[in-house]
Amino acid sequence: MQPPAKTRPIFLGDARTGIIQIGGGLPLDHPLSKGLATESTPAPVSVQTMTAGYTYDIDKCVAEIHKLTAAGADIVRVAVPEKKDTEVLKEIIAQTTVPIVADVHFHFKRALESIEAGVHKIRLNPGNITDRSQVEEVIDACKEKNIPIRIGVNEGSIIERKDKQARAKELGAVFSDNKHGYMIAIMIAKLEEYLDIFYQRDFYDIAISAKSMDAQLVIDAYTEISKRFPHPLHLGVTHAGPKETGTIRSVVALGTLLANGIGDTIRLSYANDPIYEVEDGLELLYTLGKRERIGAELIACPTCGRIQVDLFNLVQQVNDKLNEEIIVPMKVAVMGCVVNGPGEAEGADIAVFAGDRKGIIYVQGQKVATVPESEILDRLLSECKDFQTKVQAGEVKLGEKKVDIVPPDPEGKLGSGWEKMASQRMGHTPLTVEGE
Ligand code: SF4
Repeated sequence: MQPPAKTRPIFLGDARTGIIQIGGGLPLDHPLSKGLATESTPAPVSVQTMTAGYTYDIDKCVAEIHKLTAAGADIVRVAVPEKKDTEVLKEIIAQTTVPIVADVHFHFKRALESIEAGVHKIRLNPGNITDRSQVEEVIDACKEKNIPIRIGVNEGSIIERKDKQARAKELGAVFSDNKHGYMIAIMIAKLEEYLDIFYQRDFYDIAISAKSMDAQLVIDAYTEISKRFPHPLHLGVTHAGPKETGTIRSVVALGTLLANGIGDTIRLSYANDPIYEVEDGLELLYTLGKRERIGAELIACPTCGRIQVDLFNLVQQVNDKLNEEIIVPMKVAVMGCVVNGPGEAEGADIAVFAGDRKGIIYVQGQKVATVPESEILDRLLSECKDFQTKVQAGEVKLGEKKVDIVPPDPEGKLGSGWEKMASQRMGHTPLTVEGE
């Protein structure tokens, strides 16, 4: 796991929503730290999403933003294709508690209206606004109000749209012998061109995105961009499809980049309810250790021929209840039997091992109950809630093991892997190697 890349931080929000920092860590003596008063450390990676409904439908839009905020979204973006959308932005911002980003395409006036309405960030693709003076007008308006801008050079939008011949020529080149190489070169060239406009206006509060529907291109493009531009990166695989496949594409690309220290804010994009984008985005960050977990972490076995209870249903019910009632990051294990269960669940704060239509429940390694299958859910949940109360009162610590499983060679004196096997220290007949 690599440490986060150092970038010039941007800040979104106000006293009411709280301030969300994206990126950080660029030294103050770096030329692009111009205007920053204090050195920053990289912020935890934030999760954002976008509303699926019409922004002008104010009540539904506010309700959707509340739902996404409750699910854990740090930032919510709304589309503002028409004036009727920007006209309601002020009211939407007043009724919500999360930084709002206005997504602007083609109409620079929508950006100006959004800034006037008090939006916390603008998403802009300069390539979609043909007149440079209009882009400059948006930059100056953001600068005046300290609003950051995300510059998008997403695959689908940097190819010339207006001139069909130019588009065909570019597409021809893109799909020739080296699609990725050529596309990354276009993305970087466009970024240099766009950033030059921003730097010339003395504007540096910038995030960058370079999305594609191709996960491999996303990995390569962001990796190259991260080497060249010290601005926070907004990661995403765009149009990733239905949740089932979109999850894999997004997690592979974003997980690879984040593990390499690349990426400061993420958006998963599914053809589904955006609440899943938030839930899966958070889980990805928890899994990579990029965010402190809120709520329980559920470990569950996949079941096999040893199973003697309806484990899949039990796991789903436990998951739903934990999401509703547990806020401390305890580990909860639901295991199908005692054959592999105890080893796999080692370190779990609360565990149940099923067998013979019963469940044996443990709290930090101590057996506390054996209950019939019909009572497993209620008893497990009640143990989780009691444990949560004790954690909150400071009476117990999360992850405190009461059962020590001591490995046979705790200090690794016997070596490991092939070396250990070849030197006959396994306690059984060693493998022989041809030629040795
Ligand atoms: S814990 Fe038991 S039931 Fe579950 S997969 Fe492992 S061996 Fe099978």
